[in-house]
Amino acid sequence: ESTAKVIDGKHVAKQIREEIGVEIARMKEAIGIVPGLAVILVGDRKDSATYVRNKKKACEAVGINSLEVCLPENSTEQEVLNSITKFNEDPSVHGILVQLPLPSHMNEEKILNAVGIEKDVDGFHPLNIGRLAMRGRDPLFVPCTPKGCIELLHRYGIQIKGKKAVVIGRSNIVGMPAALLLQREDATVTIVHSRTNNPEGIIKEADIIISAVGQANMVRGSWIKPGAVIIDVGINPVEDSESPRGYRLVGDVCYEEVAKVASAITPVPGGVGPMTIAMLLSNTLSSAKRIHNFD
Ligand code: NDP
Repeated sequence: ESTAKVIDGKHVAKQIREEIGVEIARMKEAIGIVPGLAVILVGDRKDSATYVRNKKKACEAVGINSLEVCLPENSTEQEVLNSITKFNEDPSVHGILVQLPLPSHMNEEKILNAVGIEKDVDGFHPLNIGRLAMRGRDPLFVPCTPKGCIELLHRYGIQIKGKKAVVIGRSNIVGMPAALLLQREDATVTIVHSRTNNPEGIIKEADIIISAVGQANMVRGSWIKPGAVIIDVGINPVEDSESPRGYRLVGDVCYEEVAKVASAITPVPGGVGPMTIAMLLSNTLSSAKRIHNFD
């Protein structure tokens, strides 16, 4: 019985953070510029506050200056837009991130559209997504989670060109841009979503699978072609009385079953998760380099 190689996102992310730290020091030394990331958090969702805290810590560790604005749940859309405008105009800020989800009384589209595309380190501005989708165009930024998935494939020497890839999920932030990126890398891409007939049959054909659904252990060992490569984006809490918190996190993919059939697989946690923040730092560094014309 064979076991898939573990794609160690935690290790790769650490390596990337080290590379970024070196580049930031080099830029500071050469031109006296330190990259700056501004994060806007609206409301008091605990999970969002945790994400923002982690991003801030990660920035500090590599030498990125992090700025934060926390607005109350009952803020107006205009107050959020004002913060964005302020950061668009602030030359010490090279990346602006609006933590999602926003409170339901706000128009997410209007707010994301207000982020200047040259500071759109999340890559969610429609101009950046549109360029990602078009041949011969290049986005200024690629969304962090799908970029991290592709980076893992590259760093593990997994060929994408010519392969059959299946992306499960079509959200604006993960599934859709992941499919566009795989296509840019010359994979032949199929997207599976909640209305897909016979998802197992389609997934079974894939050489590479990126799953971004949000359903614990949905993808079973019997759905996988032997030797396929699995990137599991899902982060799903399941009850676990052994854990002090009462739950643990698992992916969309039933790891125990799939690891017996696949040739390589990302664990959850420790796979795609750490890569997302590493790509945010990387996007912030490239933004500062671009704005200051530094190679
Ligand atoms: P969304 O809920 O926005 O999208 C889920 C997608 O999965 C939708 O396109 C939906 O289809 C599809 N889907 C739902 N049920 C099924 C099913 N039974 N079969 C096939 N497709 C299905 O989620 P996100 O994209 O935001 O996140 C997905 C997962 O990734 C979550 O677990 C999230 O926590 C995790 N995540 C992890 C990150 C990381 O850093 N590692 C970052 C972001 C997210 P339809 O369009 O038809 O509704």
